[in-house]
Amino acid sequence: MSTPALDTFSLAGRTALVTGGYRGLGLAFARALAEAGADVVIGARDEEASVAAAAELAETTGRTVVGVGLDVTDRASAQRVVATAIEATGRLDVLVNNAGACVHRPALEVTDDEWDLVFDTNVRGLWIMSQVAGRHFADQRSGVIVNIGSISGLIVNRPQWQPAYNASKAAVHQLTKSLAAEWAPLGIRVNAVAPGYVKTEMAPVDDPAFKPRWIDDAPMQRYALPEEIAPTVVYLASDASSFVTGSVVVIDGGYTTF
Ligand code: NDP
Repeated sequence: MSTPALDTFSLAGRTALVTGGYRGLGLAFARALAEAGADVVIGARDEEASVAAAAELAETTGRTVVGVGLDVTDRASAQRVVATAIEATGRLDVLVNNAGACVHRPALEVTDDEWDLVFDTNVRGLWIMSQVAGRHFADQRSGVIVNIGSISGLIVNRPQWQPAYNASKAAVHQLTKSLAAEWAPLGIRVNAVAPGYVKTEMAPVDDPAFKPRWIDDAPMQRYALPEEIAPTVVYLASDASSFVTGSVVVIDGGYTTF
């Protein structure tokens, strides 16, 4: 008999690593993955905040949740955290590349440091994490990567200009497809979600300066909460999406329809 559909969303017995998982979207992803049965490792540069968020999640979900210091732009740090995840929970099955950075600045004013910050975090960091976890996934012949892209990889946001961010998220979408194609024979699936505006520290959705373009222009005329993006990450991390790879799932309240 085949597995009942809802059971295929279960992550029981698996471990997920969420980069930048102590606040915003990453925290919602970590919580949802734990609620779906996974043990979870949260890693960000702020180790104290990661440890505190992990303790709270362990308490409320009953799963093993570990918080660690991680700089995704530093390969040694990435290797340490993947090793820690395997040591602490016995395995690693899912990588959620959530850590990200954004700078609002007109193209003629963007500094080299700002460009590098955005590309180092969003593209190089995601690449390093994928390669380090990917080696482990290739050895065990299974693994799932969920990248956090953005509608900014598909459209140009307004009224704020953010050229580096837009280009970096388009790179995330294309790297998702590239790794999906190359690693499918190794048993590794790679997908992305492309959220629209979500209320977090990165996106000042309540700022009246942005409301006409960000909210009023969108079909649903509202922003999302992180909890509205998380179930799709659970879907992509689980066997419910066993035939899905190389996909970029847009979750934007219809924003990109116009
Ligand atoms: P936040 O700014 O709230 O969170 C970003 C997280 O990334 C923080 O935990 C931060 O922790 C971590 N981080 C940043 N740099 C690094 C690094 N070098 N190494 C490890 N961790 C790092 O942002 P959001 O929750 O809004 O964004 C999460 C993801 O979702 C990002 O990729 C973003 O681009 C994407 N996204 C967000 C949207 C939105 O509207 N909010 C829309 C579409 C996509 P620390 O600084 O301690 O390292």
